Amino acid sequence: DAKLEDLPPGSLPRFRESERDDDVRYLLTKKLRVWCRLRDGQWDSGQVKSSSGENASVQLSDGSVVTVPTEELLPANPDILEGVDDLIQLSYLNEPSVLHNLQYRYSQDIIYSKAGPVLVAVNPFKDVQLYGNDFVTAYKEKLLDSPHVFAVADMAYNKMMTDQKDQSIIISGESGAGKTETAKIAMLYVAALGGGRDGLESEVLQTSCILEAFGNAKTTKNDNSSQFGKLISVHFNATGKICGAKIQTFLLEKQSRVVQLAQGERSYHIFYQLCSGAPSDLRERLRLKRACDYNYLNQSNCLEIHNVDDAQKFHILMGALNTVRICKEDQEHAFEMLAAVLWLGNISFLVTDNEKHIEVVADEAVINAASLIGCGEQDLMLALSTHKIQAGKDKVTKRLTLQQAIHARDTLAKFIYASLFDWLVEKINLLLAMGKHNSGRSISILDIYGFQSFEKNSFEQFCINYANERLQQHFNRHLFKLEQKEYELDGIDWTKVEFEDNQDRLDLFEKKPIGLISLLDEESNYPKATDLTFATKLKHHLNANHCFKGESGGAFRVRHYAGEVLYDTDGFVEKNRDTSHSETIQLVSSCTGRLPQYFASTLLKQNNKQCVATRFKGQLFKLMQQLESTRPHFIRCIKPNNKHIPGIFEKDLVLEQLRYSGVLEVVRISRCGYPTRMTHQEFTRRYGFLLGENNACQDPLSMSVAILQQFDILPEMYQVGYTKLYFRAGQMDALEDVRKQV
Ligand code: ATP
Ligand code: MG
Repeated sequence: DAKLEDLPPGSLPRFRESERDDDVRYLLTKKLRVWCRLRDGQWDSGQVKSSSGENASVQLSDGSVVTVPTEELLPANPDILEGVDDLIQLSYLNEPSVLHNLQYRYSQDIIYSKAGPVLVAVNPFKDVQLYGNDFVTAYKEKLLDSPHVFAVADMAYNKMMTDQKDQSIIISGESGAGKTETAKIAMLYVAALGGGRDGLESEVLQTSCILEAFGNAKTTKNDNSSQFGKLISVHFNATGKICGAKIQTFLLEKQSRVVQLAQGERSYHIFYQLCSGAPSDLRERLRLKRACDYNYLNQSNCLEIHNVDDAQKFHILMGALNTVRICKEDQEHAFEMLAAVLWLGNISFLVTDNEKHIEVVADEAVINAASLIGCGEQDLMLALSTHKIQAGKDKVTKRLTLQQAIHARDTLAKFIYASLFDWLVEKINLLLAMGKHNSGRSISILDIYGFQSFEKNSFEQFCINYANERLQQHFNRHLFKLEQKEYELDGIDWTKVEFEDNQDRLDLFEKKPIGLISLLDEESNYPKATDLTFATKLKHHLNANHCFKGESGGAFRVRHYAGEVLYDTDGFVEKNRDTSHSETIQLVSSCTGRLPQYFASTLLKQNNKQCVATRFKGQLFKLMQQLESTRPHFIRCIKPNNKHIPGIFEKDLVLEQLRYSGVLEVVRISRCGYPTRMTHQEFTRRYGFLLGENNACQDPLSMSVAILQQFDILPEMYQVGYTKLYFRAGQMDALEDVRKQV
């Protein structure tokens, strides 16, 4: 029997799927409570009245009696388990039971539950009054132990202090599920515990406000949707006080939002905040107009967010920039870049010939944009209307068509914005940098997109889902190790507990030279390649892989851990190439402005030969490496409805997220092991009376064994540890049943 350490990475043993939980014969004979799947696919609870052959008649919760095939029945949990804190405590871990437990709690505003080591957070969409100082104190002093983000952060902080090991809190979930709010709540607690005299904790807290202004936007899914993933690491000194912080951001999509908006969505908050909140002297210097006057902002019929005052937000942002000590001069430079982007969007072109070649219209937009980035108007106009191409040994200047010119202008705007965001993060990092690095004393909080599966899935979903496969593997291994440790410490044979790994899915993405990413890169390097040639290539090389399936029309399917996703290769090659217009790069290099010069210098440092997917893979590996050295804590955020209103719990929506977030996987894994645990004392206290008086003087261990034997519990259904008894799922119900009858 191999130990985890001896196994090659990724090769965890596989487990036979366990069905014992779903054995309904027992239910039928005992006439216990069941979940009954009705014709519409919904589950309702009921009581078995009678059964004959393949059918059972069940009395439902509303009193009506239905006859259903027995395969539509699943066991329901005994009443004493209603609304338990940890889903793993449930005797039956089937889907309707798990959902019911979460819904039962949610209806009482208990938004947090555990699933083994995972905290499940269901978005309340209202102020639940759970985060005041009284709660901080209660968790700090261990007066409360119900599931909460504070409890997770508290555990992380204490583990860090006692074990001197770096900790991480990994938060995932879909858009609008509450990741960013949860990250802030965790940070609030960490800051409360690690606050010192120098006030560094308030600087760290204020970074959220800045990052959100520049990195979040209103989408149809969330009024404050993060357009980037982030890892914030907070560092502590030996006495547990905050001594520095570091922010890492990734996958800020190619900023297409700066230049193009879907109906009802907005660009990044900062543009609207600046337009409505800038004081008059700043407005004058930036030649700023109202948001509705800019083409980049007024294209989507959405300039405001309900209940949000952008001008007020701008004042709060200025406060945050000051707190973090970004100097006035740098603030001003940043605003200049924002105004430049807005003016770029107003630059227009005049078609001058039949071949649609254009000239730039020399209006206030050109004048303002050029002066804000610090270049000559003519240079800007030239950069946006021509390009040089190689003809033999010489370079020839050619005029651009309308479409090419718009592309060049938008590329420049996106480049400036993306660079500004990176500059800002670096600036904050310099200001919050810790003096000495103390390995073993940090808590990192990861706020990252969860698994995505839409009707149409493109390159972005491809990257995000690949990242989630990696995170899932991290999660599985951690879980496996935790279980293994507990079993080993208590003298249990842990080899009877096995997990499924997702290494084969990762291989599909990562293997060289025949993996999705390698093949995409290879294809992106052929000038003549198209999305269709890429799709054909995938089919040719990967069709034998059981996680892959080529489809017609340039589509392909991947079997992810969370389910199958159909990707459309439309746009893959171009998005992966990420070619910048060389004239714009040259222009930026020639600008006199401080920030454009900085942007140009970082561009030179970048490895531009790499394709986007490979660069992303590199980022992801770095992230995983960082996370590997930490003890992880997992939080899965769940969005209970798409209307963003309190009190509505849509079961199908929640179930899908439980599946995508790996919570059902935890539950499944637990079902394979021995999820129900009781100390010998607890067990004898509850069931000891079944033995009669004679055995009362025995020690708890001997008594436990006697009880197990007396009641004919099958040996494969339990294990006896040094301190605890471990039961397979469902066993407690059988014992409770005996107890009730006595
Ligand atoms: P995205 O992926 O789009 O960034 P997200 O998962 O980060 O989404 P949040 O922005 O954190 O989602 O949350 C969306 C909204 O849900 C918040 O603006 C807030 O209104 C509400 N919300 C989330 N968590 C809580 C909470 N704990 N208490 C009250 N409201 C919450
Ligand atoms: Mg967010």
